[in-house]
Amino acid sequence: MTDSTASLFSSIPSVDKLLRTPDAETLIDSFGRQPVTNAVRDDLATLRQALAKKDNVETGDVSSANILARVAARLEADLSPSLKPVFNLTGTVLHTNLGRAPLPEEAIDAIAAVSRGASNLEYNLSTGKRGDRDVHVEETLAQLTGAEAITVVNNNAAAVLLMLNALALRKEVIVSRGELIEIGGAFRIPDIMSCAGAKLREVGTTNRTHPKDFEEAISPKTAMLMKIHTSNYEVQGFTAAVSDPDLAALAHKNDLPFVIDLGSGTMTDLRQFGLPHEPTAQEALASGADLVSFSGDKLLGGPQAGIIAGRADLIAKIKKNPMKRAMRCDKMTIAALETILRLYADPDRLAGRIPTLRLLARKQDDIQATAARVSTMLDTALGDRYEISLEHCQSQIGSGSLPAERLDSIALVIRPTAAKGVGTALKRLATAFRNLSMPVIGRIQDDAFWLDLRCLEAGNEDAFTSQLDALQIK
Ligand SMILES: *Cc1c(COP(=O)(O)O)cnc(C)c1O
Repeated sequence: MTDSTASLFSSIPSVDKLLRTPDAETLIDSFGRQPVTNAVRDDLATLRQALAKKDNVETGDVSSANILARVAARLEADLSPSLKPVFNLTGTVLHTNLGRAPLPEEAIDAIAAVSRGASNLEYNLSTGKRGDRDVHVEETLAQLTGAEAITVVNNNAAAVLLMLNALALRKEVIVSRGELIEIGGAFRIPDIMSCAGAKLREVGTTNRTHPKDFEEAISPKTAMLMKIHTSNYEVQGFTAAVSDPDLAALAHKNDLPFVIDLGSGTMTDLRQFGLPHEPTAQEALASGADLVSFSGDKLLGGPQAGIIAGRADLIAKIKKNPMKRAMRCDKMTIAALETILRLYADPDRLAGRIPTLRLLARKQDDIQATAARVSTMLDTALGDRYEISLEHCQSQIGSGSLPAERLDSIALVIRPTAAKGVGTALKRLATAFRNLSMPVIGRIQDDAFWLDLRCLEAGNEDAFTSQLDALQIK
């Protein structure tokens, strides 16, 4: 150890001495004694390690003021939440990694109202006896879907698992080979089947399945016929699938239930928003399905949930299954879902009230106007190392809903002006946007950084532009 290192070592103040300084007292007032003590200990330990390794440690680094400044910064950073709002400018409206559907204010208010204190979650206010948490959404859901009964769980993956376990344990479920999908995040139909304790009986081929394929597979071991909406891909060309009414008829002739995993599911005809028709829960049940299941936070535009709707006897069996207890929704989800479902009672005003549908229906002109306003400010913030243009782009719905469908949109496209090191420059740019206090998530494509402005609406435009000055591109 050199003399200078030894003297730096000995000049490191003790924890006690540091904690008695006025600066430390101020920190203790705002963060508490324990967190400040821990942060001081950590900082001193890091200093000693750096000195022992002869890393560049300077006299200033061991002063009380600097130690406490580092401690303050660290405590401040620790306070910022890990889960936080971001701007989704990826061009994928229902982005699973970015939390899927944005909720309307009414739903947020409903969540706040029931989370603050006690609620009648499972308490029947007219009898004063124990109630059932599904009742809060049961009537609206039954009306909207035409189902006899419903139940809700944590998400649609849980709904599928639960239906299979409750109705097909140790028995066979017949599914077309064209529908053995993987949705991402380890949701693969064959795996879900075996997790649920059901046996997958695949029939037909990848592109073509006929009624006789199902007919020949039915045996005393069969528990149900199942259809899975191939939500994230399309089979095109020489294809054949058995229609819902045909599958239902075949199932019923053999006294078996016909179950459909609709995936996204929707309660309204999407053609009114200029989107292609997506089968609704109501249509699926009307065409003979005994049960359907779908997500709460895909096209429905609500909270994460899995909805099962259909025949009362089957729902009763599902509700008795112990897995239902393990997969049930919490009060906040039920509060939000109840609110969303009520909005569906007034189909004419859906696009104005459900943010997901509003974003999907948003017109290119409107996005263009936003882009024009925002681009000038972005231009100033970025300086001359980058050039910005407004370009036509195509948003997608996301979460496997209508995978082939694209929505005309406008993006702010940022290109580095220097010809060299474009890849690195773009990565730095993307990082700088992610490091903003409300991170901005875009995408790198064709040697440019793209910000699709479909999801930047009037309500959050100021929040976006006001932080651009803080962009720090390394
Ligand atoms: C999305 C999807 C699921 C899973 O739904 P989560 O709500 O994400 O759990 C299951 N099946 C299909 C067909 C889907 O598209």
